[in-house]
Amino acid sequence: MGEVYGFLQYKRETAGYRQIQERLEDYKEIIYFLEENKLFTQGARCMECGIPYCHSIGCPSGNLIPEWNDYVSKGQWREAYERLEITNNFPEITGRICPALCEASCSLSINDAPVTIKQIELAIIEKAFAEDWVKAVPPQKESGKSIAIVGSGPAGLAAAQQLRRSGHTVTVFERNNEIGGILRYGIPDFKLDKGIIDRRLKILKEEGVRFETNALIGEDISADFLKRKHDIVLLTTGAHTPRSLPISGIDLDEIYYALDYLTDSNQFISGEKEAHQIISAKDKVVLVIGGGDTGSDCVGTANRQGAKKIYQFEIMPKPIEWNEPWNPQWPDWPQILRTSSSHEEGCERRWSVLTKKFMSRSVQVEEGHFCEVNWKKDSKGKMFMEEIPGTEFSLKVDMVLLATGFVHVEHSRLLEDLEIAIDQKGNIAVDETFMTNIPGVFAAGDSVKGASLVIHAIHQGREAANYINQYIQ
Ligand SMILES: Cc1cc2nc3c(=O)[nH]c(=O)nc-3n(C[C@H](O)[C@H](O)[C@H](O)COP(=O)(O)OP(=O)(O)OC[C@H]3O[C@@H](n4cnc5c(N)ncnc54)[C@H](O)[C@@H]3O)c2cc1C
Ligand code: SF4
Repeated sequence: MGEVYGFLQYKRETAGYRQIQERLEDYKEIIYFLEENKLFTQGARCMECGIPYCHSIGCPSGNLIPEWNDYVSKGQWREAYERLEITNNFPEITGRICPALCEASCSLSINDAPVTIKQIELAIIEKAFAEDWVKAVPPQKESGKSIAIVGSGPAGLAAAQQLRRSGHTVTVFERNNEIGGILRYGIPDFKLDKGIIDRRLKILKEEGVRFETNALIGEDISADFLKRKHDIVLLTTGAHTPRSLPISGIDLDEIYYALDYLTDSNQFISGEKEAHQIISAKDKVVLVIGGGDTGSDCVGTANRQGAKKIYQFEIMPKPIEWNEPWNPQWPDWPQILRTSSSHEEGCERRWSVLTKKFMSRSVQVEEGHFCEVNWKKDSKGKMFMEEIPGTEFSLKVDMVLLATGFVHVEHSRLLEDLEIAIDQKGNIAVDETFMTNIPGVFAAGDSVKGASLVIHAIHQGREAANYINQYIQ
């Protein structure tokens, strides 16, 4: 709870980011950490509201937020850490990049600024690492069961840790060079330094989790072989089928999917690729299509690469601008205009813009054609758009990044050979225990839910691990 009237005495404080000019010169993390004395008072703002919406409605993993807030306000870091690790395998990651659904549903958000839950989460886990409290917990007893996990994103890694700690032999198979899924190859370093992933992987390895990289399951290793060799297969392959635009000129050169662009950049920073091998925005006029977080990551990356000018166009209308600290749609995640740290670094944003076609006199994109649209609701409340006559415009561009989302899991040979049923959205269909239509084959994370958030993936990985444990008893 912190202090009884802490929320009346102390104002919300956040640590903020590095100065824009300075941070644009490198790819290092942009966050600052709150000083310890400020964390005590921030924890003390937690008000014992009785029904902690942050924990029950906000955080998908049900993090025990009021409990750690209370411990932090009293300087009891060890106890705070012990509560934190009960529900979240990787708080050092969510504490950096989670959108903090919990803060939107914090009871203080009804008419005041929420508790700085995310920064407190990060402070607890970083303190725990600094104090050497984060230790490998290898199982006391081996179960003799073998589990194959396909895909090493947060869902696969959370499940791997839980299942290994239960005594099973766990092997994580990953088609890429390195472990981490989108954490490693999608999310830019300025949001998540890759050393943070490596620090955690060291612990998983000490616990006995095995990793096989450069292993494309379904091709390099057959699905049938994997299934025969292991008691359980868990699919955590993500939702990597990108959404394209069905318009003329989409196949021109210099039009890329956002994830391909971001992966190249991350591989360059880690030394996996050289400068001449990557897609680069240097000296180019860049158009990012898609106003979401992936688009924002493209903006931040293009600015660091030295783009000449960056535009970001979104087809949906501009959300309401909201400058109050409280949540107008409490306890839900509010539909308000969000300006990310990458947007602050420079880009021109527009909303309600439909991309009509791309043109060129050569093979490389030169010009985009657009128009503005009006969004309306039909009699059933379904949104539809209408082009606004006379709003057509064109733009000279050197490079286009499609950050238009992901449609579903890849319908790969792995899924075909295993004869996995797909749901209506094109993702892996599972029952309430995360088992697919094939006995002993489970699935979790974005491959089931569709493109989502890291904390959802962690939570689903943990849930699937629980049900796998029950299944193989
Ligand atoms: C650019 C970008 C930025 C994002 N930023 C944020 C953010 O700031 N905060 C947030 O909460 N969420 C963010 N997300 C969403 C988040 O990253 C995902 O929801 C999360 O990573 C999903 O985890 P996952 O484990 O289900 O799958 P993934 O992380 O996608 O991992 C799946 C892994 O499976 C591997 N794989 C697939 N098929 C095979 C196969 N046949 N054999 C072997 N390996 C295979 C893939 O190579 C991949 O490594 C972002 C997403 C993107 C694309
Ligand atoms: S994981 Fe996200 S929603 Fe959950 S407590 Fe942390 S910041 Fe909040």
